[in-house]
Amino acid sequence: MIPPITSMKGAFSLEGQNAIITGGNRGLGLAIAKAFAEQGANCAIFCRNMAKAAEALEELKEIGGTHKAYSCDVTDFDSIRKAIAEVYADYEQIDILVNNSGISYNGELLDMDENLTDWFVTLDTDLNGMVRMTYEVGKRMRDAGKGGSIINMTSNAAYMVNWSPCMAAYSSAKAAGNHFTRCMACELAKYDIRVNAIAPGFTTTELAKHIPPEAMGYIEERTVTKRWGEPIEVGALAVYLASPAAAQVTGSVHVIDGGYMLRC
Ligand code: NDP
Repeated sequence: MIPPITSMKGAFSLEGQNAIITGGNRGLGLAIAKAFAEQGANCAIFCRNMAKAAEALEELKEIGGTHKAYSCDVTDFDSIRKAIAEVYADYEQIDILVNNSGISYNGELLDMDENLTDWFVTLDTDLNGMVRMTYEVGKRMRDAGKGGSIINMTSNAAYMVNWSPCMAAYSSAKAAGNHFTRCMACELAKYDIRVNAIAPGFTTTELAKHIPPEAMGYIEERTVTKRWGEPIEVGALAVYLASPAAAQVTGSVHVIDGGYMLRC
């Protein structure tokens, strides 16, 4: 059982915690890594582009803590297992896993090739990557017996049918990610491992650059706060979910989209 907090002093601290963040070399993953580092955590970044990871590590170094990067393709079990072996050699234990890696595919199903390549690549990255990482890290968290926090990055697209652009593969992967989160919260609770999801709306990263220019004004108009989200705001939510303050929070999907869905 995870004890409740008794004071707000240190309730959001991640001092001395070790976190794996997939896709931590840029965008929301890097914002989460920086937010974690500012709260005292050490970050292990998992990604493919190691040049970008080196730039991210420079930013993290300025904040303080012990941060490292590991080459990892979340669609490839061998690559994951190699990175996991390396990270557990470097860090005594892992307390937090953020399954953030993701790609977006914009387009209609009938326009895909006959092997549905884009469908399967999207599902394999956005959903199965999360599953593979949870399997590998979850087993080690269970065996260490010290609990843990797993945060899955999904999207408000899980709840909507985006038609401009069409995103059936992406939305389906994210909807499944939300339910996987709920299932894992129940399965892993006996090991004191909490599992939650963050479902952002439009947030200013490279991924959002795939949005057609003609949709930009529409998005701002429809968002209740009248602006896009900033990556640091997702970082703040991730800090809360990983922190002692969220000891009673598991199996929840936290939408952070400036009220965009309210006007669906
Ligand atoms: P970016 O495109 O900026 O970053 C994507 C990250 O995923 C990169 O770090 C990339 O690293 C990593 N990645 C992609 N494929 C793989 C792979 N096969 N193996 C390992 N890492 C991979 O996107 P965002 O930061 O915007 O998105 C992060 C998450 O947030 C995603 O899951 C996305 O779906 C979700 N999200 C984003 C929203 C937004 O508006 N920005 C809205 C809702 C959800 P590398 O290429 O080096 O491997």
